Amino acid sequence: MSIADGVHLALKRGRETGCNAIQMFVKNPNRWKARPLKEDEIIAFHEGKNNYKENFIMAHTSYLINPASPDPEQVKRSVDALIIEIERCETLEIPYLVLHPGSHKGTGEEEGIKSIVRNLDLVFTQTSGFNTMILLETMAGQGNTIGHKFEHLKEIINKLKDNSRVGVCYDTCHTFAAGYDIRTEESYNATFSRFEQVIGLEKLKAFHINDSKTDIKTRKDRHEHIGKGKIGKTAFSLLVNDSRFNQIPMVLETPKGQDYKEDRENLALLRSMRK
Ligand code: MN
Ligand code: MN
Ligand code: ZN
Repeated sequence: MSIADGVHLALKRGRETGCNAIQMFVKNPNRWKARPLKEDEIIAFHEGKNNYKENFIMAHTSYLINPASPDPEQVKRSVDALIIEIERCETLEIPYLVLHPGSHKGTGEEEGIKSIVRNLDLVFTQTSGFNTMILLETMAGQGNTIGHKFEHLKEIINKLKDNSRVGVCYDTCHTFAAGYDIRTEESYNATFSRFEQVIGLEKLKAFHINDSKTDIKTRKDRHEHIGKGKIGKTAFSLLVNDSRFNQIPMVLETPKGQDYKEDRENLALLRSMRK
């Protein structure tokens, strides 16, 4: 949900669209700098939360942040920006902040993962005592991005000095494009068994619910409306009826038009699938 004209308006937009869970940015995602949150904006956000009690709020980091980068300048900016975003989530009492693990830019997966671990250790040390968790997102595997294999995320989680404030956000479009099939009951069960074996379901904290414009193993990140892409309806029906995920927030990242009409349609479709 958009934060145009104030973070508190994301809640209003979510409520008006009929969402039970929303994802929002805590600052402009395409810029490094952010003006501090205004006191009245923070108060308005907490007031908005009172009108939104039964619902779940999570945040997504800026797209510029890359903790896997080999460039020290970009790493420094990324760490500083990530700390600012966690501080904002803590102020707004947002429990989860979703992060793309990043791109190693040609240095290789091992180096990239080392860099992520080192930088997340730094971020967690500098925000010790905070409640907000960082959720590493499963990625499609475009370019040199890390996170298109469950093993990448597992390795990051295992190598952190303290992994109590890290979890995973499962993006259905990304994992599918990365090669994890969920189109039939059999493949769905196999993929989540794999997740359970490699990472563990206790680390699965949120879902991004998207269909995919491109086919399995294309490693392309192209979101599509639910049921209109290459994943298809069966997978989403399995997902919304899976009792293991009953209490896990799921948000849409499907293409948006004016006035959230598409969000309403995707929501209605997903809700109609509940048995
Ligand atoms: Mn994302
Ligand atoms: Mn996503
Ligand atoms: Zn995506």
